[in-house]
Amino acid sequence: MGVVVLKFGGTSVSSIEKIEKTAEQAIREKEQGHQVVIVVSAMGKSTDKLVQMAEQISKLPSKREMDMLLTTGEQITISLLAMALQAKGANAVSFTGFQAGIETERVHGNARILDIESERIRAALAENKIVVVAGFQGITHDGEITTLGRGGSDTTAVALAAELAALKCAICTDVDGVYTTDPRYVTGTIKLEQLTYDEMLELANLGAGVLHPRSVEYAKNFKIPLEVRLSHGETSGTMIEEVLDLENTKVVRGIAFEDGITRITIHWSRKEDMRVSKVFTELAKNNVDVDIIIQGITGLGHGNLSFTLKTAALLNALAVLEDKKGEIGYEQLESEQDLAKVSIVGSGMVSNPGVAARMFEALTENKVPIKMISTSEIKVSTVVPERDMVKAAQVLHDTFELEKA
Ligand code: ASP
Ligand code: MG
Repeated sequence: MGVVVLKFGGTSVSSIEKIEKTAEQAIREKEQGHQVVIVVSAMGKSTDKLVQMAEQISKLPSKREMDMLLTTGEQITISLLAMALQAKGANAVSFTGFQAGIETERVHGNARILDIESERIRAALAENKIVVVAGFQGITHDGEITTLGRGGSDTTAVALAAELAALKCAICTDVDGVYTTDPRYVTGTIKLEQLTYDEMLELANLGAGVLHPRSVEYAKNFKIPLEVRLSHGETSGTMIEEVLDLENTKVVRGIAFEDGITRITIHWSRKEDMRVSKVFTELAKNNVDVDIIIQGITGLGHGNLSFTLKTAALLNALAVLEDKKGEIGYEQLESEQDLAKVSIVGSGMVSNPGVAARMFEALTENKVPIKMISTSEIKVSTVVPERDMVKAAQVLHDTFELEKA
């Protein structure tokens, strides 16, 4: 008998009816002879609603209290789902992150899981119970409640799958798999049968909202086969694994895009004064994630540093940089909002040097200005104006012929 972990996202548990369907699915899984752990998100858009309520009170609410607030969403779902299971005659118990033994670092709003004390889950499974665990939340060593970052229920599920050496981990959602790019915006997209961990990791990090990036990191590190599939249906989804079976996979396999990006540029009049590491140390201390970084020095000996971050983190970043202005030693700081990042991803890119050039050519031909570029072995990202984001994604999807299987 093996453990299976199934995760259901907000849209899959957005009503009592859907919670009941989820319960039926868990029972079917149990009837196949598995021990079943179900991880759930908050119902529908309820996390967003909680965030909006907090924003009515303060623009920068205390992060600790935000975690206290947001974790209530998942607590509603777990209790209702456990009741639904019991009403259908199944033996079930719900656990919060704390009760499930999910210990995290003390970073409110974006904590990493450090350890899972799974005795309680194991005991419940041994008693033949279906175990329902609240996603997205954990507890610090000193008893503070934390959250794992928006979308973090995926990570709860994969971390539990790793801890329990599960046979499989399925992320059950409102789409039937991972697509070449977001079908809501781009035409001609197709579902991918398979992706490597690295490709999925890049896509998730670059804004493909389908999986929380850290969940893919976990899956990769612990070699957990991950399936992204439709919640209440029979069709098979996308498998995310170490290697692909398919031969001749395309050079570019997917396109990710993300709006709400801001570029900050810092100027120094003397390049000798540039305290670049200080900039990033201070931002990191305050948990501001930065992304693409470009440093420049002009012929006149001036220096500048540009980097991107999520616009949502801008106020926080500006407060930190203003506060440390003296130590960083810069003259001027400017920021440009309303930018987006559009990226192409594919493991075949390692051995195909012309791909980036084709990407830039296609964007330029279609009058999409490229503001910043960053590359890794298996991806190329460009920063473009937000208003051009969807056009850029469509142009690249067409250019690299992703509509063809
Ligand atoms: N409910 C949380 C969110 O909306 C966590 C999750 O859904 O994974 O971000
Ligand atoms: Mg999600």
